[in-house]
Amino acid sequence: MRNFTYTRATSVKEAIQKATADDDAIFIAGGTNLVDRLKVFLDEPSQLIDISRLEMKRIERLSNGGLRIGALVSNTAVADNVDIRRDYPILARAILAGASQQIRNVATVGGNLLQRTRCPYYYDTAFACNKRQPGQGCPAATGINRMHAILGASDQCIAVNPSDMNVALAALDAVVEVAGSKGQRQIPFTEFHRLPGNTPQRDTNLEPGELITSVILPPVPFAKSGVYLKLRDRTSYAFALVSVAAALELAGERIENVRLAMGGVAHKPWRPTEAEKFLIGKPANANTFQQAAEIALQPAKPQSHNGYKVELAKRAIRRALTVSAKGGGVV
Ligand code: SF4
Repeated sequence: MRNFTYTRATSVKEAIQKATADDDAIFIAGGTNLVDRLKVFLDEPSQLIDISRLEMKRIERLSNGGLRIGALVSNTAVADNVDIRRDYPILARAILAGASQQIRNVATVGGNLLQRTRCPYYYDTAFACNKRQPGQGCPAATGINRMHAILGASDQCIAVNPSDMNVALAALDAVVEVAGSKGQRQIPFTEFHRLPGNTPQRDTNLEPGELITSVILPPVPFAKSGVYLKLRDRTSYAFALVSVAAALELAGERIENVRLAMGGVAHKPWRPTEAEKFLIGKPANANTFQQAAEIALQPAKPQSHNGYKVELAKRAIRRALTVSAKGGGVV
């Protein structure tokens, strides 16, 4: 084990200065995934910079009708927030579908964005893993890969992003606000996470030393019809085999607008944009939803043990769209 120091940042500026000066420093807030990784030496920082006391714990209404969620707001606080439950139920339901109440009480929005894959080979250091050590190989590609990606994978890594919250935020076209030594910037949510390509060790497009400060939810009036459907091996405390976030805006029977995102299928929350384009202007019925599901899964390339995910994802899309077309609610 590598010894590390622990410091508590008193401001965003101080946290960034400390992280910028030390490539091996890691921010810690709720720690619900990071501490697991520290215990098995996946992460061996030189210092932990505790940001948990910083002023990033508010949910604020924006002048355009959207919301800004501080990076240190707990998952429980987001899921319980009255405005989010009313205007973005898709997000509240996604959060409540994940983890346990105890974990949600301490896990933060910023940390949720940064949680790493639950690929078992990644966590077991007896195995090689390109995500831990680029160039070592990917045992999942020829091993047990029933939980792994069917979309957007590479020969370097076939892991999936484990977050439920991320799927909802992708569907809502959220924006991630970050601060670093070069100032502040905004990253569209769909560009925040990366596909593995030749750099499977990088999950996000954050630059070294950058800190997530908040997540913006733009106004999406039809998000009130949003649903989150999570399919998993057991009904609590399990990661998604496939999940779907969907929201429809209808004018009579006709689809005016749609948001669709999938989890459990790729290295990042997956927006099937071709399926979304297909849906616009079509009648909201079973035939349309079936065709959209076929389009969404057309690029799928299942692994040796997860061909079942293709059909499961199609059915999940159909179901989520059907429920959203009826006004949303619990799936
Ligand atoms: Fe490692 Fe990715 Fe392969 Fe899993 S899928 S063993 S995380 S390289």
